[in-house]
Parts: sequence; structure tokens; C-alpha cells
Amino acid sequence: MTTELYPRERLGQVQEATAKAGLGAVFLTPGPDLRYVSGYDALPLERLTCLVVPAAGEPFMVVPRLELPAAQESPAGSLGVELVPWDETEDPFALAVGRLPQGVTKVGVADRMWAVMALRFRAVLPGAEQVAAGGVLRELRMRKSAAEVEALREAGAAIDRVHRRVPGFLTAGRTEREVGRDIADAIIAEGHARVDFVIVGSGPNGANPHAELSDRVIAPGEPVVVDIGGTMPSGYCSDSTRNYCVGEPPAAYREYFQVLEEAQRASCEAVRPGVTPEAVDAAARDIIAAAGHGAHFFHRTGHGIGLESHEEPYIVAGNREPLEPGMAFSIEPGIYPGPHGARIEDIVVCTEDGYDPMNVTGHGLVITG
Ligand code: ZN
Ligand code: ZN
Ligand code: ZN
Repeated sequence: MTTELYPRERLGQVQEATAKAGLGAVFLTPGPDLRYVSGYDALPLERLTCLVVPAAGEPFMVVPRLELPAAQESPAGSLGVELVPWDETEDPFALAVGRLPQGVTKVGVADRMWAVMALRFRAVLPGAEQVAAGGVLRELRMRKSAAEVEALREAGAAIDRVHRRVPGFLTAGRTEREVGRDIADAIIAEGHARVDFVIVGSGPNGANPHAELSDRVIAPGEPVVVDIGGTMPSGYCSDSTRNYCVGEPPAAYREYFQVLEEAQRASCEAVRPGVTPEAVDAAARDIIAAAGHGAHFFHRTGHGIGLESHEEPYIVAGNREPLEPGMAFSIEPGIYPGPHGARIEDIVVCTEDGYDPMNVTGHGLVITG
């Protein structure tokens, strides 16, 4: 898994991109960028761990001596990157910039770098402008390799298994929080390393796309939006939304749910290379608007996914950067008229001539007992 998912040549690609962007180096502290480049899922600690990728010369990683064994055991240990341990009385920031040539005028800092660390880097490189390293890495991270697509498919299969178990958790008289706890346990049991979020939006809470779990008791006849995701041991994320109802839903719900199914399908089918994210968004939005629910769909259609559950590309009006094979993102239109709502979400990957779904459970309303 590790060598394919985190290939050695990626470091060279990042170095090339760093030079092309006119940066002297990028500094990658623990977070998705560091993991993407090195495979190292480092703990975000106050002690500095930092992969330094200079535009020219050998990349190296500054590591607290206490973390050296963890770094060596991670995929980073076999990338051939020099690990430079530092002791408690040393200044790791000085160590990180010490090998850069004089007169570096611009550097990239990881998007998720702590502000205190970015400020320390500014202090040791006062002449260098800092920019977000994400701009350098986005071109690479947006286009998933075959190994990354397989990791996303594994994540999708795991969250699909959780959705198949939801009817067993969802009964009238239970609270959202009780159901949510069972779902969180299932997310781990089905193979995730971490639970990222659990939304159980019952009745009126289903009309709030980012509802928090509450102590609301689920009543018969109430539709429930279940939007769940986690991170796999590979580092790749899952995210899928399905809709349930404890018994028969209201007639109005049946009506707009059908529109939503059609809109979500149309949006998926709009995906292919060269099409803009804006057009994929419009494919869903136009159908929902034509049915008179335009005002009840008030968020973008989707977001990219990979080592982060929200990343580029965003499927939103205004994004005209054409899709390319390997781009992975959610398609998740919703209709929220109140006093209930619905959203259907799949992760899809753009292929040479269409889309490849990572989630394969049925999209229809699931009636539970
Ligand atoms: Zn969201
Ligand atoms: Zn979701
Ligand atoms: Zn999502």
C-alpha cells in the first residue's frame, strides 16, 4: 500500500512545482500536505517536524529526536529523505532554513501550518515573502493516482457498509445522539481509523445541512438525513449521505425526494473531462429550480476529497477550471423546504469518459421500522 500510495517520485514532482512557482522552498509541517508528499502521518506537536523541499538541492526533514523512530517507521523512512533530528536546546527553525541558499525571496508554508510556526519561519527568514504551499501542491493533489482512487474506493466501500447498518440503529423513540453513537462505532468497526463527522438530521433538523447531533427523539413518519464520513488507515476519507424514514414519510417529502434523486443523477452524469465544476453544479441546480425548489438548495453541489474530506476541486458556480481524469469529489445536492429535508451524496472520480462512483448503495429512501 505505502509505496504505491505514497510514491517516491512525488517528492521530485513537488520540487519541480516549487521551482516553477518561483519559491526557494516549501516547508511542510504535520498535516495533509506532509502526508501527501512523504506518507508520514506526523502528530501535530509544538516541537517542529518539517519537511523542507528546496527548489534545488536535496529535500530533508527536521524531526524532534523523540519523534525520530516514528518518522523512520513511516513511509518517509524509505523515501531516501535525510531525517535531521534536533535536540531540545537546538533551534529547529534555524536548522530548517540553514541549508537554503542566501537571498531566498519567497517560500511556501503548509496551508495547515500553525501560525506560531509560520511566524518563527518569518523571524528566521525575514527577507522572504511567505505564500501558502497549497498553491504549489494543488495541481498534484487534485489529480488522484490509480492507487489513490483505490484508497478512495476502499473508503467508499467502508462507509457504504455503515449505511447498510443504519436501519438497524434507526427506530422511533431513540434520540439522534443515540443513533449517532452507534453509527460512530460502526464507522470504526467497518475499517476507518477515525470518525470525521456524523450527521443524523431528523425531522426539522434534516432541513439544516450541518445539523449537530442532538437529544431530539426521532418520531414515526420523520425523514432522517444521515451524512457520515471518516478517515481510513490509508489516510483517505469517506463521505456519503443517504436518507431514511421511520415509517411512511409525508407526501410532500416523496414529491421533492424524487426531484432530488433525478438532480443528483443528472449531476453525476454531467461529469467528464473538460466539463466545468460550474456545469456539474448547474446540472443538479437547474432540475431542482425547475421543480420550484431553487431557494431550498442553498449550498454548493460538492467538494473535492482525498487526504482531506473537503479539498479542491469545489463543485460550485464560478469554478470554471475544467475537470480532468482523476479528480475526486462529492455530488451532494439537497432540498430543504422544512420541516424536513433531504440530501443525496456520493463520491465520484472523473474518468476518461465519465465518472466512477465510490459509493454504490442505492440512492432511494430507506424505510426503517
Ligand atoms: Zn460540508
Ligand atoms: Zn457528507
Ligand atoms: Zn460532502
